[in-house]
Amino acid sequence: MYHDVVPEGRPEVSGFPGTAGSRYKLEEAGFAEHLDGLQATSLGFGLLAGDGPCPPAAFTFDDGGSSALHVAEELERRGWRGHFFVTTGRIGMPGFVTADEVRELARRGHDVGSHSHSHPKYMASLSDAAILEEWARSRDELHELLGRPPRTASVPGGFLSGSVIAAAERVGYGVLLTSVPSARLHRHGAMWVTGRFTILSSTSPARAVAFATGDARACGSQWAAYVIKDAIKRVSPAAFDALRRVAGVRD
Ligand SMILES: [Zn+2]
Repeated sequence: MYHDVVPEGRPEVSGFPGTAGSRYKLEEAGFAEHLDGLQATSLGFGLLAGDGPCPPAAFTFDDGGSSALHVAEELERRGWRGHFFVTTGRIGMPGFVTADEVRELARRGHDVGSHSHSHPKYMASLSDAAILEEWARSRDELHELLGRPPRTASVPGGFLSGSVIAAAERVGYGVLLTSVPSARLHRHGAMWVTGRFTILSSTSPARAVAFATGDARACGSQWAAYVIKDAIKRVSPAAFDALRRVAGVRD
């Protein structure tokens, strides 16, 4: 799970602003090193089709930042395509993809999916009606833009619940990607659900390779950290924010 890819020292040019967002942004040179490392594995990077054959590994890019076309070119140079999850309420705003760019990504064979409409920080804490509205509005807007409904969605903010999953299925998505660090694919009604491994700006190319190849140690350590963070969020999102502030991570 990648986010934005930005020029050196300029995290503000793509995606959500602020220090918390910057933790997820790779610089262009670093991203190219990741891709070179991943290319050396000879893994086949494909797109998740749900009911179709599952690729060994897949690239996903959350938020819909304006770096998407640069990312797409880097993937295409290596013969790959990726999943781009767009926050539809941000389309055309500074730092985010335009409607034309969304169409361009799809035209070039990438998968464009939903990353909710407004990117709520803690989607699972919203009412069921509000969660449904986030998934439905985003799907309608992408349908309008692309001429067909998007098949895929990814959960914003990484805060998952049964309601978030159930609403995505009810609205009609075929594949939902979460931030749970697990490659296990399971079914929820008519929809497939799978986790992802988070790449931060501090993640080395070797670690990205370890995630892509299912290295038990790398995957297990991200899982252990996730379990602790998720437990704190579930007790209190406010306590989680306070801990992040103590740790020096600010929005
Ligand atoms: Zn996001």
